[in-house]
Amino acid sequence: MTNESHHTGRHYLQIPGPTPIPERILNAMSRQIIDHRGPEFQELGKRVLTNVKTLFKTKNPVILFPSSGTGAWEAGLVNTLSPGDRVLIVETGQFALLWRNMVENLGLKPEVIPTDWRAGADADAVEAHLKKDGEKAIKAVCIVHNETSTGTRSWIDEIRKAMDAADHPALLMVDTISSLAVMDYRHDEWGVDVAICGSQKGLMLPPGLSFTAVSDKALAAMKTAKLPRSYWAWDDMLALNRDGVFPYTPPTAHLFGLSEAIDMLLEEGLDNVFERHARMAEAVRRAAQAWGLELWCRDPKYHSTAVTAVKLPDGHNADAFRQVVLDTFNMSLGTGLNKLAGKAFRIGHLGDTNDLTILGALSGVEMGLRLAGVPHKQGGVDAAMAYFAETARSASAKAA
Ligand SMILES: *Cc1c(COP(=O)(O)O)cnc(C)c1O
Repeated sequence: MTNESHHTGRHYLQIPGPTPIPERILNAMSRQIIDHRGPEFQELGKRVLTNVKTLFKTKNPVILFPSSGTGAWEAGLVNTLSPGDRVLIVETGQFALLWRNMVENLGLKPEVIPTDWRAGADADAVEAHLKKDGEKAIKAVCIVHNETSTGTRSWIDEIRKAMDAADHPALLMVDTISSLAVMDYRHDEWGVDVAICGSQKGLMLPPGLSFTAVSDKALAAMKTAKLPRSYWAWDDMLALNRDGVFPYTPPTAHLFGLSEAIDMLLEEGLDNVFERHARMAEAVRRAAQAWGLELWCRDPKYHSTAVTAVKLPDGHNADAFRQVVLDTFNMSLGTGLNKLAGKAFRIGHLGDTNDLTILGALSGVEMGLRLAGVPHKQGGVDAAMAYFAETARSASAKAA
């Protein structure tokens, strides 16, 4: 069977990051590199370093490393902690697990609150664990805001309250890699000490740039932290960033793109960005439920607005289904990681999407289920269309 659609139209990149890059950002990045020690760069550097704070809702500096999000995890740990320090992690899924492994690799001592990987972090469990630490020896609590591997989110304001209720001084570190510019995040208000992000998810940029938001407490911890660091050291970076420049060659093209991405997000308004993502997520969940398929996230409180993981009926392999969708409709869906391997697929609905791109993706899923012989009910796309139509607002009404 031949399928010409491989060569026409666009590939549907429906994984939860990297996400499709808007034309405006592609165009902004497609230009000649400038002297990173010259005045034009300095102006760009100062602008992005100032404006990026708005996305984190912080007054403190945000550090940009040319790296994937994982690099910023490492920077966050080595700049604030010392060998042997105890670190508490709630294992909400694969990304929390990778963070835990990094903690161990760096010579820190991870302590894990396990979950069944089907819900977000339970603040009561965090409070109970911290209350048992009478000597206050735990130095950091690490939470993944949006667990991309399972489609579950955690509530950072609740975690903050739990730490306060336990009267515990540990640093709060949050992975916002797939939540920033997708769901509300308030760095200063929630008293987060270190927040980590990457460019390729809600920020709609190519992979390769990481973000670290800090607190005064994290900067104070830096003064006594003894883990070795050089490339990842915050102090050199912060000192030069005051003048809009970097200690080594910066990822200039990414910064052109970041400037445009911030403009786009602020033009839309962050609250509108969050509401748009919530609406996409609701449409996807309605489709999955109409198909009679189970959502991996078992508790609506923890439903992610960035990505939805959908479980296939037992005996049906999710990767075989994804392969059919890729071969037939040129759409990439997210694979099931670790405990979800073969059992679930993930639909990314973050970044540069709209009603019709999501409906296109859902149509591909519904046809794929049929072609792969996965038992399901028809009508998922209809349910999503009905929801979009009920909640539609015209562009002119939005502008008013
Ligand atoms: C994507 C992702 C990561 C890994 O980020 P990289 O940029 O691949 O290093 C970590 N945590 C979460 C929650 C993610 O979504």
